[in-house]
Amino acid sequence: KLHNTILELKGNIRVFCRVRPLLPDDAIGTETVISYPTSTETLGRGIDLLQTGGQKYTFTFDKVFSHEASQQDVFVEISQLVQSALDGYKVCIFAYGQTGSGKTYTMLGKPNAPEQKGLIPRSLEQIFQTSQALSAQGWKYRLQASMLEIYNETIRDLLLPNRINSLDMARGESGVSGKQYTIKHDASGNAYVPDLTIVDVCSIKEINLLLEQAAQSRSVGKTLMNEHSSRSHSVFTLRISGVNENTEQHVQGVLNLIDLAGSERLSRSGATGDRLKETQAINKSLSCLSDVIFALAKREDHVPFRNSKLTTLLQPCLGGDSKTLMFVNLSPEPSSVGESLCSLRFAARVN
Ligand code: ADP
Ligand code: MG
Repeated sequence: KLHNTILELKGNIRVFCRVRPLLPDDAIGTETVISYPTSTETLGRGIDLLQTGGQKYTFTFDKVFSHEASQQDVFVEISQLVQSALDGYKVCIFAYGQTGSGKTYTMLGKPNAPEQKGLIPRSLEQIFQTSQALSAQGWKYRLQASMLEIYNETIRDLLLPNRINSLDMARGESGVSGKQYTIKHDASGNAYVPDLTIVDVCSIKEINLLLEQAAQSRSVGKTLMNEHSSRSHSVFTLRISGVNENTEQHVQGVLNLIDLAGSERLSRSGATGDRLKETQAINKSLSCLSDVIFALAKREDHVPFRNSKLTTLLQPCLGGDSKTLMFVNLSPEPSSVGESLCSLRFAARVN
C-alpha cells in the first residue's frame, strides 16, 4: 500500500473503550463503579467494573479512555487508521453502547463547539487536508460522502433535504415520497445503495454543512432511558479515489463511521407495541454484527454477512485486509452497571 502508513496491528480488529463523564442530569451522589487498574502491564488498557454486590470485573482492551479524555485525545489514537483510508484501505469504526453512553458524542460530537467535535468531522478535515497536501506529489483525490440510517431494517438517506425527509418520517415512510432503498451488489460483489445522495467534499465548509444536515435528519425516539435516544444505526461513508498524475497509480479507500443503535436490553427500555418491534430489530441486527465480527476475529470460513442490512452493506469493508475499530462506550452511572457489563462482554468477545 502507498505512503507507508505504519500501523501496528495485532490483528485487523481493535477495541477501544471510552467512559463518559458524569453529567449534571445523572443521579447525584453516585459512588464510583468504574476504576482503572494501575498495574504497568495494563496501564491505559484496563478497566474495572464494580457491581453492587461488591463483585469486581476486569477487562483489557487495546486502549481505555477515562472520562477525562478529550475529543482530541481520542482522535489522536485513530488518526493513523483514518489516514490509511487515503492509502487505499477499507476502514470501519463503530461506536457500541447503551443509549446515553456517548456514542454520538464520540462520532459526531457537538458540531458548534470546536473542542467537542467528534471523530467524523475531525477525520474528514484530516483527510481533506492531507489530500490537498499530497497534490504536490501529483495526487488528485475525489472524496464522496454519503450518510444513511438503518431503522427497523429500513434504509433512510440522511443527506436528503431535511424538509422532505422529516415529512416522510412523519408518514412513517423510508425516504423521499416513500422511496424504498435497497442494497444491490455490483459485478465484483460489493454492496451499494442505488439512489443514495452522494456529496462531493471539496471544502471544510461543506463538511460542516453536510454534518449539520445529517444531524438534523437523524431520527430520534423517546424511551424511558433517554429522551433523544437514537434507535437506529447511522452509517457515514467516505469514498476516496486517488490518482497520481505522475505515476498513474490508483487508490480506492473507504472510511465508514458507524453510530450504532443503543444496545440496551428490552426490559430497561419499557418497550411495547411498535417500540417493542423496533427494539427486537435493533437487538437482532446488533447480534448479527457481533456474529460477523466474532467470525472474522476467529478467522472462520463462513462469515454470516447476509443476516442483516448493516452487515450486508458493510461486507466489502469488513474482513480481508480491511481494518475495524470498535469503540465500546460506557456510562459511569451505578444504575448502568448491568448494561456496562453487557457492553464490556460484547467487546471482549470481539477483541
Ligand atoms: P448516545 O449517542 O450513546 O445515546 P450521547 O453521545 O448522546 O449518547 O451522550 C449522552 C450525553 O452525554 C450527551 O449529552 C453528551 O453530550 C454527553 N457526553 C457523552 N460523552 C461525553 C464526553 N466524553 N464528554 C462530555 N459529555 C459527553
Ligand atoms: Mg446517539
